[in-house]
Amino acid sequence: MATSRFWLISNPLPKSSTSCNKDLNGGYGTWDKIGNNFISKIIGRLKKRNIKLPVLCLSYIQKLLEDRNINCFYSEDFYETLKIISKKKIEYVVIYGSIICCDYENKLIEEIKKLKRTKVIVVGTFPTKFPEKFQSADHIICGEPESFFINWSGKIEDISKESRLIKSDNLTDLDYLPLPKYLKHKAKKFSYRPMLKNPTGFIEASRGCPYSCGYYCTYGENQGKLIRAHSPERLVSIMKELKKIYNFKSFQFRDPVFGLQKNFIEKFCYEIKKANINFEWGMETRIDLLNEDIISKMSKAGLKSINIGIETPDENIAKGNKRKLCSEDKQRKLINFAYSKKIRINAFYIIGLENDNYESCINTINYALSLNTYMARFGVCTPYPGTGYYSDLKSDSRIINNQLSSYNQQELVFNHKNLNNKQIKTLIQKAYFKYYFRPKIIFKIIKQRLSK
Ligand code: SF4
Repeated sequence: MATSRFWLISNPLPKSSTSCNKDLNGGYGTWDKIGNNFISKIIGRLKKRNIKLPVLCLSYIQKLLEDRNINCFYSEDFYETLKIISKKKIEYVVIYGSIICCDYENKLIEEIKKLKRTKVIVVGTFPTKFPEKFQSADHIICGEPESFFINWSGKIEDISKESRLIKSDNLTDLDYLPLPKYLKHKAKKFSYRPMLKNPTGFIEASRGCPYSCGYYCTYGENQGKLIRAHSPERLVSIMKELKKIYNFKSFQFRDPVFGLQKNFIEKFCYEIKKANINFEWGMETRIDLLNEDIISKMSKAGLKSINIGIETPDENIAKGNKRKLCSEDKQRKLINFAYSKKIRINAFYIIGLENDNYESCINTINYALSLNTYMARFGVCTPYPGTGYYSDLKSDSRIINNQLSSYNQQELVFNHKNLNNKQIKTLIQKAYFKYYFRPKIIFKIIKQRLSK
């Protein structure tokens, strides 16, 4: 049915040569500004070219709006957003708020307000925790915005009568979510290379993480400890449908920890087999949740890539950061087993954890080299506002940088006991250089790209 109602969904991305993805890091976003030297710039550019993912909640909101017979525009450009508002009668603009681009998003909101043509709703995990950072917005949805739109009548007056801060509960069952909706030309560019084939569909099987490292991790803090999931049947039907519409060649799960629900992995693999579908997929998990049997089952169901957070090889440092480590032997054994099944591993490490010193960081880099996973990511320890870790440092007056865009996992924003910003930058650049500028890694990546 034709409709004259229009909304605009805006996810303004700054023009930059490095990769800015707002869905990552528990929805706070990451911006890979690794460094200013030649090598860091190359790595930053490669990441921008190869990692491109949508903000999932915006794609659900778009579908929920369209189901209410509302036409949606979508833009990732600051000026295009303003142009659409100037030309069309837009009822509301939904803007995603992140920590890394908070200033940029606010600048856009202010420009929109100057036009006096529409109202602005801000959504996201960062505005949920810090709505006061988005002063010019008409409404801020605090909580999971999808549940607000699922329950919304579709009438404008039912939004206008809400207070400025709209409280929205977390979904209890992800099967209530619709199919995510994308612009086809954008979906064509979704990428998680070189871990998976292009284009990649980004989906989620579950939300929530119960582990104690939620002390410093935004996923645990923002999604809560309770696991909420899709049923395996619905998940497989979503994957089939998305493949049909967008021609995705692979899927990457955005769950903080994939398969935490009892027997989920077995049921999911069974459903994939039953549906007789063939696509590659990747997920993120904790290595202590894996065993050879589970890896074999997932491999038979198309698993090609695993992200694992190793953070540090040092048990005492891990403990001091409320992180439980998997034994080194088990890590090596499972990583080698995954390789025997042709599964690529991307390991994440943190430089500058509490109690780290220069030597322990060098040990982390050497450990990464010895594990020799397919890819590795090195991030600077970042106390994110909203986490227990940030609160502890704040009360000890150790937060030294309040510029929100610096909370990007590439800069030291707190007073570290043993390391300064210069040392941290040197360590991160050293880590990337030592890891990626080895002939066998370069050869491995080229070989995989050529085999596509
Ligand atoms: S297990 Fe992973 S996702 Fe969960 S709180 Fe710890 S670091 Fe975050």
